[in-house]
Amino acid sequence: MSAGNGTSAEQGVWVAPGRVNLIGEHTDYNDGFVLPFALPHRTVVTAGLLPGATRWAVSSSFASEPTVLTPDDLVPGRATGWAGYVAGVLWALTDAGYALPGAELSVDSDVPVGAGLSSSAALECAVLTAMCDLAGIDLPVADRPRLAQRAENVYVGVPCGVMDQAASTLCRAGHALFLDCRSLAVEHVPFDLAAAGLAMLVIDSRTPHQHVDNEYALRRRTCEQAARQLGVPALRDVDDLDAALRALPDAVTRRRVRHVVTENQRVRRAVDLLRAGRLPDIGPLLTASHRSMRDDYEITVAQVDLAVDVALDAGALGARMTGGGFGGCVLALVDADRADAVRAAIAGAYADRGFDPPVSFLAEAGAGAYRVR
Ligand code: ADP
Ligand code: MG
Repeated sequence: MSAGNGTSAEQGVWVAPGRVNLIGEHTDYNDGFVLPFALPHRTVVTAGLLPGATRWAVSSSFASEPTVLTPDDLVPGRATGWAGYVAGVLWALTDAGYALPGAELSVDSDVPVGAGLSSSAALECAVLTAMCDLAGIDLPVADRPRLAQRAENVYVGVPCGVMDQAASTLCRAGHALFLDCRSLAVEHVPFDLAAAGLAMLVIDSRTPHQHVDNEYALRRRTCEQAARQLGVPALRDVDDLDAALRALPDAVTRRRVRHVVTENQRVRRAVDLLRAGRLPDIGPLLTASHRSMRDDYEITVAQVDLAVDVALDAGALGARMTGGGFGGCVLALVDADRADAVRAAIAGAYADRGFDPPVSFLAEAGAGAYRVR
């Protein structure tokens, strides 16, 4: 059975994955392009209707206490902490006009929390998929990312783009998701690492995210101001980068714009290469993306720069930080038989510098949200 068929059911089990972004960083809020793929890590929601009740009993292995949500909680911000993500989805559904029956939802997950792998979207999308099926809500799958994003933006109050929820909902196994953040048009681009003899190492730098919210807001504001100065709706619309750079008096703004414009170009080039079956050739684009985030967008930290440099020295075809920045995870595209050597080289370099040991795993492109049974 698949998600999104609108069939009602008494109970069942639904899953939604975390994701990494292969390339396209800080392009989403500039109406640009991103290319995430779903992780094998996922959030599982076991749910059943509570006949005659208008409440939602929610538990998570993540939290010691279960929570009971009532219609009074379906007001943005009312429920806080982890339950806010669940209440946010329930609120977004009712706000869109859907009637919700009472239900019991039990959450379990192996998506690392707070590592930039989008455990929040996995939770939202698993709950959304479950509630749609349980309540017989015929919400087209293509419309679900926006609704889950509203839960996070409006209810929880996190100003994220739509990429995480789109990836967690729409991804296909063996493919990356080419997403146009303006139109929300999607294309499933072949991304079969094993068939190409490659592996994707995901290295969690375990760097505490510091000043992320402020810096994110600052980057966003700079981009919006630059678009206004250039007379375009968004930086995605900059066609002539050199002319744009000449028109901007401020050096910092010029660097930010150069990152966004070249990053969009890199995403499109990566998509062209993947469409042509040339997966190994995207390596240099990943590395160029990292240099651009480091030098122009200035969102990397020593731990992620080190992981990238060491991965490349140890033979990776390309490497970059993935996610919003100031820590989080690094991706390294490697020949499958080099994965262990690259992983060991990074661990060794971290030990030499006295950094906390990184946690790494291999990721294949998995499927978006679906019903298990
Ligand atoms: P990320 O999405 O990068 O992992 P966020 O800060 O956006 O980090 O979201 C993490 C938050 O999402 C957690 O602090 C928690 O509130 C919520 N969350 C994620 N997974 C679960 C889960 N399995 N159960 C309960 N809450 C979860
Ligand atoms: Mg998140």
